[in-house]
Amino acid sequence: NQKRLATLRHHETTSKDGVGVMLAANIGTASDLPAVLENGAEAIGLMRTEFLYMDADQLPTEDEQFNVYRQVVQSMAPRPVVIRTLDIGGDKPLPYLKTKHEDNPFMGERAIRQSLAHQKIFRSQLRALLRASAFGNLRIMFPMIATLDEFRQAKAIYDDERSKLTTAQVPMGKVKVGMMVEVPAAALLADRFAQEVDFMSVGTNDLIGYTMAADRTNQDVAYLYQPYHPAILRLVDRIIHAGHAAGIPVAMCGEMAGDPIAVPLLLGMGLDEFSMGAGAVLKTRELIGQLNAHDLQSLVETALNSASTSQEVITMVQAAVPGVL
Ligand code: PEP
Ligand code: MG
Repeated sequence: NQKRLATLRHHETTSKDGVGVMLAANIGTASDLPAVLENGAEAIGLMRTEFLYMDADQLPTEDEQFNVYRQVVQSMAPRPVVIRTLDIGGDKPLPYLKTKHEDNPFMGERAIRQSLAHQKIFRSQLRALLRASAFGNLRIMFPMIATLDEFRQAKAIYDDERSKLTTAQVPMGKVKVGMMVEVPAAALLADRFAQEVDFMSVGTNDLIGYTMAADRTNQDVAYLYQPYHPAILRLVDRIIHAGHAAGIPVAMCGEMAGDPIAVPLLLGMGLDEFSMGAGAVLKTRELIGQLNAHDLQSLVETALNSASTSQEVITMVQAAVPGVL
């Protein structure tokens, strides 16, 4: 089985009927890079930069960050690397940053909210990223965007740092700037966001948690964590269509992207990029190769319009791709 999968390492990812998608890996630190290359990922769809900040006892300097980002971008070049700006708060506090106590940290000042409120850290990260952009194909992504205003503010800060570096004649590459869609409000308004962002990536870990109103770290409500719930599928489908209507690609970097029951649905919806832990890349490439993307459109229609529960969706998927799952 491992051997069979290994033959797919240098293949592109294409469905049985010839629809090509991008299969990417999620990483936390540069030490994840060997696994990404070994498993033949075509890109990095999410680098979670929190670890760079959490694995230290003080804020990493701009140069320290630059070195890590450059290493990642350079090792993957010319393949794209999506690096997400800091997503602390929620379940990821920074011990050395004195933060106010929050009764409800998942609804509190996390991710982009924290970055916009404490711009010094954000600006230093953006400068490090921009300097690293000279070494490959970098894309920058903002987490937890809920309003257009937040995206515009973050983008304006990015533009500001970029123009300062341009004045200082620092070499930089072209950089696409996109957002995570992981707050239900952003999912519902994806058509408006799609007019202003270069790309969108669906963060289903949080999107499911916030849509089902279930804390993703609380075992007692883990039963509500339902990626195939028709409500979640409708949101994901809506995001993909909003992106395509505006001519931008839509990725997914939450766990759902590597889930074998979800993959046929996502392929049928037209998802462009699937990003997952490196260990899931080869078996997902194999699975996609066994699926007919066009045939799956009717599965998607039924799941979106006639299914009422997750279990009904699972049964539909299994019936639609017999022998595969
Ligand atoms: C997500 O929310 O789906 C995601 C990819 O981000 P994280 O798991 O880091 O919150
Ligand atoms: Mg998230």
